[in-house]
Amino acid sequence: MSDAETLFERIIAREIPAEIVHETENTVAFRDINPQASVHALVVPKQRYRDVGELAEADPALLAEVLTAAAAVAKLDGIADSGYRVVFNTGADAGQTVFHVHAHVLGGEQLGFFGRGDG
Ligand code: 5GP
Repeated sequence: MSDAETLFERIIAREIPAEIVHETENTVAFRDINPQASVHALVVPKQRYRDVGELAEADPALLAEVLTAAAAVAKLDGIADSGYRVVFNTGADAGQTVFHVHAHVLGGEQLGFFGRGDG
């Protein structure tokens, strides 16, 4: 895609530091800089797609790899059994701020409800 590079490409290229917790040939996972739960990692495909819809349409096998990596991160972080949430914020109403598709992996504590905010 033609948009300017996002900071996630720079993390993937190791140009910006991040705590990388898992990597495969096609994906990288790293800790979120502003965690919203005890465990909060982001899983990104190295190939850039804007959001999960674009990824699903263009390369469903790569989307499956992102989800497999999310499950691997949950295992590594010891939350596979206690439970975790995988979230793809998509577009403005969902609060997507980085337009390189990423799965949030959240857990390590009882998570709250989600959906409509209180503001
Ligand atoms: P979004 O709001 O697009 O779904 O999620 C973007 C996520 O990227 C946010 O949770 C935010 O905290 C995280 N983030 C933004 N900048 C950085 C950074 O420089 N490093 C890391 N590790 N995470 C970041």
